[in-house]
Amino acid sequence: MLRLLPSISALLQSPEGLQLSAEFGRPLATRALRQVVAEARAALRQGASCPSPSELLSAARRWLAATLQPSLRPVINATGVIINTNLGRAPLSAAALQAIQTVAHGYANLEYDLEAGERGSRSVHAAALLRELTGAEAALVVNNNAAAVLLSLSTLAAGREVIISRGQLVEIGGGFRVPDVMRQSGCLLVEVGTTNRTRLSDYAAAISERTALLLAVHPSNFRLTGFVESTPIGDLVRLAHDHGLLVMEDLGSGCLLPSERYGLAHEPMPQESLAAGVDVVCFSGDKLLGGPQAGIILGRAALLERIARHPLMRALRVDKLTLAALEATLRHYQRGEAEEAIPIWRMIALPLARLQERAEHWARTLRAQGFAASVRSGESTIGGGSLPGETLPTALLALEEGEVPCSLEELARRLRARPVPIVGRILRDALLLDPRTVLEEQDEELLSGLIACLRGM
Ligand SMILES: *Cc1c(COP(=O)(O)O)cnc(C)c1O
Repeated sequence: MLRLLPSISALLQSPEGLQLSAEFGRPLATRALRQVVAEARAALRQGASCPSPSELLSAARRWLAATLQPSLRPVINATGVIINTNLGRAPLSAAALQAIQTVAHGYANLEYDLEAGERGSRSVHAAALLRELTGAEAALVVNNNAAAVLLSLSTLAAGREVIISRGQLVEIGGGFRVPDVMRQSGCLLVEVGTTNRTRLSDYAAAISERTALLLAVHPSNFRLTGFVESTPIGDLVRLAHDHGLLVMEDLGSGCLLPSERYGLAHEPMPQESLAAGVDVVCFSGDKLLGGPQAGIILGRAALLERIARHPLMRALRVDKLTLAALEATLRHYQRGEAEEAIPIWRMIALPLARLQERAEHWARTLRAQGFAASVRSGESTIGGGSLPGETLPTALLALEEGEVPCSLEELARRLRARPVPIVGRILRDALLLDPRTVLEEQDEELLSGLIACLRGM
């Protein structure tokens, strides 16, 4: 039986084999055929029947497709979580994508002062816009917000004490714990207050000659309710400045638009912190700002100059692609078109009627193919450690347990195995898909994927 297996060279010489070589190159085609022939040989020893040459060639094609598929690839986010960290946080605007392409295609004035004809600074590309939009004296961009916190504390407080409320010693997720980052920066953590209540007098009592700064961290991914008290940032600023100390605030999300306009709670804005006198403010580029992964540091020019000169700055700096996308994203705010142009804000602003329309369209399409599907009301969330507990009313496509041809887990697994994977969520008796986070141009792919998976393919 083993001798019945065709040789690799015979397979390569067949018309389909030549086609494989033409498409993928001879070395890869050979590797694929060796792989499938070895598998067939092992299967034969287990008593399987001998595959035909054309079966082997198709298997080689499938192996090549699976092997060459990019590891990082697009996914349809039907979870309704808008800033989904596991799914890459903020999708970029068309202008941001264009800016990346334009700058990445060739050389750019990344660190070159075109007027002077000499070395310049990469920070200038987003700094002027950030200053204009937030009223900051100076701005600096680093790799992400964790880097922004680490770098700022390392520069401003290494070897000295930093006072923080026990209610703000938070874990952001993915292992980012505020106390760990503080220790890593070499500063000494001084915790004050209790989990639920910290007063100005707690900070005041903790100030010593070793204190460098007071740190406020926005507890961005959870909410304390009930008997709670935190110190308003303005009071913290007054206390710190009276003692010749600095105040730094980690805002997490860095929301530049008033979130209450969209029926959400008010998310603290960097411009408010700066107006209140905070010396250094930092936040992420890919949360509610809606741009690329970045950490943005705003604040007093003298402090930011020191931060920019810290040796860690070189290790945490951003590349030209990030700066291109960030500048283009900030331009949307400058032009007053953020809500229409930036995908996450467009999703947040989507009217319920439009979501209902799309969910109904999805359900009708599936029913026309003979599958049971209904529309339910539900809630989308902001996610990404922003606006915890805040939801937006939405319409969900529901595929119910018992109404679909397999278990909900199996259906979810099939959807994730699609060439463009579809990620939804299972809530008790149904698999739910939220149109809010599905880009409109993905509707067709989503529907054909759903139909294929319901058919068992
Ligand atoms: C998200 C978050 C961070 C981490 O930001 P990255 O950009 O993910 O590094 C830090 N602090 C707070 C308060 C956050 O919400």
